[in-house]
This record gives sequence, structure tokens and C-alpha cells, in this order.
Amino acid sequence: MSRMKAVQVETAGGPLKLVELEVREPGEGQVRIKVQACGICHSDSLTKEGQWPGLQFPRVPGHEIAGVIDAVGSGVDGWRVGQRVGVGWHGGHCGRCTRCRQGDFVLCEKAQVPGISYDGGYAEFVVAPVEALASIPDDLSDADAAPLLCAGITTFNALRNSGARAGDVVAILGIGGLGHLGVQFARKMGFNTVAIARGKDKAALAKELGAHHYIDSTTQSISEKLNELGGAKVILATVTSGKAMSAAIGGLGLNGKMIMVGISEEPVEVPVGQFIMGRNSVQGWPSGTSADSQDTLAFSALSGVKPMIEEFPLERAAEAYDRMMSGAARFRVVLKVA
Ligand SMILES: [Zn+2]
Ligand SMILES: [Zn+2]
Repeated sequence: MSRMKAVQVETAGGPLKLVELEVREPGEGQVRIKVQACGICHSDSLTKEGQWPGLQFPRVPGHEIAGVIDAVGSGVDGWRVGQRVGVGWHGGHCGRCTRCRQGDFVLCEKAQVPGISYDGGYAEFVVAPVEALASIPDDLSDADAAPLLCAGITTFNALRNSGARAGDVVAILGIGGLGHLGVQFARKMGFNTVAIARGKDKAALAKELGAHHYIDSTTQSISEKLNELGGAKVILATVTSGKAMSAAIGGLGLNGKMIMVGISEEPVEVPVGQFIMGRNSVQGWPSGTSADSQDTLAFSALSGVKPMIEEFPLERAAEAYDRMMSGAARFRVVLKVA
């Protein structure tokens, strides 16, 4: 029985510990992936702090997994040993619940998440069900692919389903882990792209990411600036503050929509009159399926969208995790496993 290095959490709130675990064989409908890189996501705190209902310890976190198929279980068609694959938040679905029967796999009532439902990517190997796999294009590195499997798919999929058309004003609120990808996707999708962040010094970064316009929310009115451009068709809210979202919502144009992908505990205030007379709306968006991940990776390779990352070896996962959670990282932290 071979062994592998992994980093696991043993109790809610406990430290990330480097351990040796047995390498599992893939079961029916599963593959084993030799992990090359795994991104660290803010949602990994759900595992580390034990905030997911029913979570069992010990658990290896990580749902931004990029690697190579190393073994294939029985009943697996269409995936082969040696193929590069990724697994993101959508780590499996039941295929039988009402939502699955309606084709809404990402909202499956028994949805599985790597690093929560089963051991994730802070390890040399991961076993995952085939429905969770996304193929990685040849010209995308593992380290670049990893964050695209969560932060990337979330912004890409929200934007491509937003209803905005080429040339429409699309604003990305916040230029962090999600937003710095959102700005790039919006530009590459052909939108009139506005980046909104705090402070004058982010203007250069916004431009570098492809934004046509930059709004500094500390000195400028977001609504005024967006209305000067005719109003936003879409505001993609990647920030984690309901107040910041409320401050931008006046910038929606006719039929404009705010799409929320950053999680906030505060509610968002909606100006009712503007919403009625402008036919405005707000919507939340929950990332997407493995097929959406594959589209995200393919589009990124095609158009040159890349996450900005800091890399750490697996052995330094605890330090890397702290760096990501403290907000000091620019912009995503990736564990190099192999
Ligand atoms: Zn995530
Ligand atoms: Zn289901």
C-alpha cells in the first residue's frame, strides 16, 4: 500500500497538519488524480473551522485541484490515465434528486464538494467521481488552472449567463481574488469594462487587467460615474460587503442587473423606485458545473486570461493558508504539489 503526503485538519479550528495517508484506489465511476497544484480558497475556511453542516474530521481541504489522472476505476468511459484534469467546487452530484432531474447539477441536494464531502487537493493524490472532472487545455499551466476552477468559473459563468452583449457596460465591483479575473473575462468577452475598487493606486492594475474605465470608490460616486457611461447592464459584485454593493446599485442602467458572487452577511439595499422604473434586478450566482469549469479553462487558454498567484510548496500549506486568509496575497495562493 503506497503512502502520500497530505495536509489535513483534525478538529474544527485545529491547525493544518502535514501527515502521511494511504493512497486510495478509485472505486466505480471514480478516478485517482495525481495532484500537481491546488489553489487555496477563502471557502477552505469552511473545512478548517468546521463550518459546513455534517463535515467529518479528519479532512484534507482543497477544491481547486489541477493534476493528471493516475488510475481509473471500473465503469469509467472517456477519461484515461495521463489526461490532465481539474476538479473545482462542483465535486459530484447524485443524478437523482429533483434539481439533478431538472439538469441543475450544481445545486444538487446531495452536492459533493472536494475538501468538504471527501478529501481534497492539499495532498499528492485525490479520488474524485468522473462527473466532477474538467479537462485542462495543453497550454494552461497547472498553477494557473487551479484558481480558475473556483474563482475563475464563478466570474466567467456569471458573466456569460448575465445577458450582457458585446459593447454593453459591465462593471466589476472589487478587484480581489474574484474581481481580478472578472475584469479580464469582461474585457475578453467584449464588454465595455469598468473596474471599481478602493483607492487611486488600483487604477494601473485595473488597466493592466484590461478595464476600459476605473472608478475609485473612495473619491468618486459609483452611480454618477456609471451613469455617465449610460448605466451598467451588469454589475458583477465580487466584494464581501453588502454596504459596498448597495453603494454601487444606483449605477445600473435600464434593464440593468447586479449579480452577487461575493458572500456578505449584510443585506443589500435596493432603491425600489429605480428598480421599478429601470426594470432592474439583483441575482446571486453559484459558480457552475465541471462542464462550466472546462469552458472556463478553455476560454482562459484561448484568450490569455490568467490568475495572479503566489505559489507555496504543499509542506508550507499552513503558512500559505494564513497568507490567503489575511488578505495579504495578490491575488490567489496556489500550493505546488508535484
Ligand atoms: Zn472556492
Ligand atoms: Zn442531485
